Amino acid sequence: MFRQITEARLNDIHLKYDEASGLKAIVAIHNTRRGPALGGCRIIPYTSTEDAVTDAVRLAQGMSYKAALAGLDLGGGKSVIMEPEGSYDREKLFKAFGQFIDELGGRYITAMDSGSRVSDMDTIATQTQHVSCTSSSGNPAPSTALGVYKGIQATLKTHRELGLSLKGMTIAVQGLGNVGFALCQLLHQDGAKLIVTDIDEQKVQHCVQEFGAKAVSAEEIYSVPCDIFCPCGLGGILSEDTINQLQCAAVAGSANNQLLTPECGQLMFNRNILYAPDYLINAGGLIFVAMTYQGKSQNEMNHRINAIEDTLLQVYRHEQQHQAPSSLIADHMAEVLLYGEQSGQLSA
Ligand code: NAD
Repeated sequence: MFRQITEARLNDIHLKYDEASGLKAIVAIHNTRRGPALGGCRIIPYTSTEDAVTDAVRLAQGMSYKAALAGLDLGGGKSVIMEPEGSYDREKLFKAFGQFIDELGGRYITAMDSGSRVSDMDTIATQTQHVSCTSSSGNPAPSTALGVYKGIQATLKTHRELGLSLKGMTIAVQGLGNVGFALCQLLHQDGAKLIVTDIDEQKVQHCVQEFGAKAVSAEEIYSVPCDIFCPCGLGGILSEDTINQLQCAAVAGSANNQLLTPECGQLMFNRNILYAPDYLINAGGLIFVAMTYQGKSQNEMNHRINAIEDTLLQVYRHEQQHQAPSSLIADHMAEVLLYGEQSGQLSA
């Protein structure tokens, strides 16, 4: 565990066992240089404590990078609850978790993540104020879609051959859920031609009817000729195989962890396809959650979301200057913000 903590440059890690509720939880606080650590609470059945710790540490680190590049005055953290086997009292479990969060005195603010629900956040809120994503907070997906839209603007400004207007441009969207659909709306308003896919046929038909989108199969979406490909479904979809199929100038979408391996960033660079680093372009949702929690105004929130465009422009500029993949550039920029100027050299 200490090796993991050192490698991830983690501030601290907290473990809690509550016998009465069966709660086994871990809170990883990665970095609080910019402010208290914010990050979701994942509740899934882990096979071992080691797996749960690894997940918490890795995810907390990701949150620090994301919050830093989003310009938030917050650090990164994450919590995991090892879901009890068999039936359990969910309310009791989350009450105990809420008390645990409260004991940390505000150094960690929790939120929703895989397996947790708005109702769980409401339960946590009965025990502590250090919780976001409650039923009074609202849906972050439209803000995420807006951030991706801003990221697409930065992509157009960088890839001059595409032109600056979305009118008549062909955009392929994978995944038409909360974010994908909202993004299609924004792109359609600007006159883009949409090619869409989803494993849920109803969602596809909705986009065909609403936006005159062309539907393709889940496999075809990678090789369909288009200007920009927007992955808004699953993570891990940019592999050696799919990158070789791409017939687009750029990839810019909301899905988390799009690169199957870090090396895939280099493959994108080698193929001369602009890649908007996922945790930068999809930060609109985090900005919404963080700034709603902090009680900031809609104006301040929009200003932060709009700034995704400038940050991405900066990443693309450095990519060209250093001839290094955008994924590496983004990591390096975040590390400078988290650890100071002297932090690591860019390794191209
Ligand atoms: P969602 O569950 O509402 O939508 C995901 C959609 O992808 C679903 O319609 C699903 O059917 C579809 N899908 C799943 N597998 C697919 C496949 N193989 N091919 C095509 N479509 C497939 O999720 P969401 O909230 O819209 O989030 C989309 C992505 O963006 C996720 O990766 C999520 O982690 C990420 N993200 C979301 C937010 C947010 O604010 N919701 C913020 C940051 C990142």
